Amino acid sequence: MSTLLRIQDLTVEYKTRRGVARGVDNVSLSLEENKTLGLAGESGCGKSTLGRSIMKLVPYPGQIVNGRIDLLLHDDVEYAKGVIPKGIVNILDLDDDEMRGLRGKEIAYIFQDPMTSLNPMIRIETHFEEIMKAHYPDIEEEEITGRAYEILDGLGILPERITDYPHQFSGGMRQRVMIGLALALRPKLLIADEPTTSLDVIVEAQILEEVAELKELFNLTMILITHNLGVLAQTADDIAIMYTGRIMELSPTESLFEDPLHPYAKALLESVPDVTHPEKKLTWIPGAPPDLVNPVPGCMYNPRCPHAMEICRTTQPDLITTGEGRLVACHLFGGN
Ligand code: SF4
Repeated sequence: MSTLLRIQDLTVEYKTRRGVARGVDNVSLSLEENKTLGLAGESGCGKSTLGRSIMKLVPYPGQIVNGRIDLLLHDDVEYAKGVIPKGIVNILDLDDDEMRGLRGKEIAYIFQDPMTSLNPMIRIETHFEEIMKAHYPDIEEEEITGRAYEILDGLGILPERITDYPHQFSGGMRQRVMIGLALALRPKLLIADEPTTSLDVIVEAQILEEVAELKELFNLTMILITHNLGVLAQTADDIAIMYTGRIMELSPTESLFEDPLHPYAKALLESVPDVTHPEKKLTWIPGAPPDLVNPVPGCMYNPRCPHAMEICRTTQPDLITTGEGRLVACHLFGGN
């Protein structure tokens, strides 16, 4: 199995009137083909900024200030002004035209709110047409319809509804349409940013099941961004727990749920209701994440951590390997 994506020392900063805030702080990770990586953590921990960095779509005033994002291209990628040769390409070296060639075709993104991403004035079939014609101007109408039907059918939408407008769909159906549009060009990497957040649990479960089937069908590699650890338990191979823009723990899903290493990962898991143990008391994490413009010295979690030691208040822990496929950034496990 090959590595599809490798991120090294990625740092994203937001320049605000109060100062500079690091949305993503020195993040490194890699993702094997056909695997699903979950990104979890509280709101504002850098999950979406990290996901958007891979698309080079960090919203203003965010800026990628350091690092590299290597993507493996199995084939040459044609774009409006030329060809990106196959092989490993650092996304951060690509210009806007080259990125437009990659987006949709190699990497696709499902945004959080389908109503703001779908154009209410045009039918679903036109959404599919626009996406496909932007990359393949000579594509035949029948091929567009054929691909759209196949994807919509896989997502439980009757093909004849392709002539409907977005407002004629329910919230769950709109989100399915968004997923369908993201898959229209058969991308290799799909980044799904809270794809089921606004949906009820039944629709959420159905959509996740459909996405899992499409992932197999299209050999997709996925990054699933969510604060819902229950969703990741069912779908992710590995989970990265983020806090203040840094990875605190990255572990295989099973290991993380059985034996979380980082105190923050442990606290997050303990704050999730467990239907198999209704007697278990729910806990919460005291305090709030620190202000990123005025970060605390040492480990960013130290003001909230019940295990904080002297070193934690002065020295930021490195992300170190502690076991098979497990990485943790905490002085309890050694390292700097
Ligand atoms: Fe807690 Fe220290 Fe580990 Fe940070 S480094 S999580 S403060 S024990």
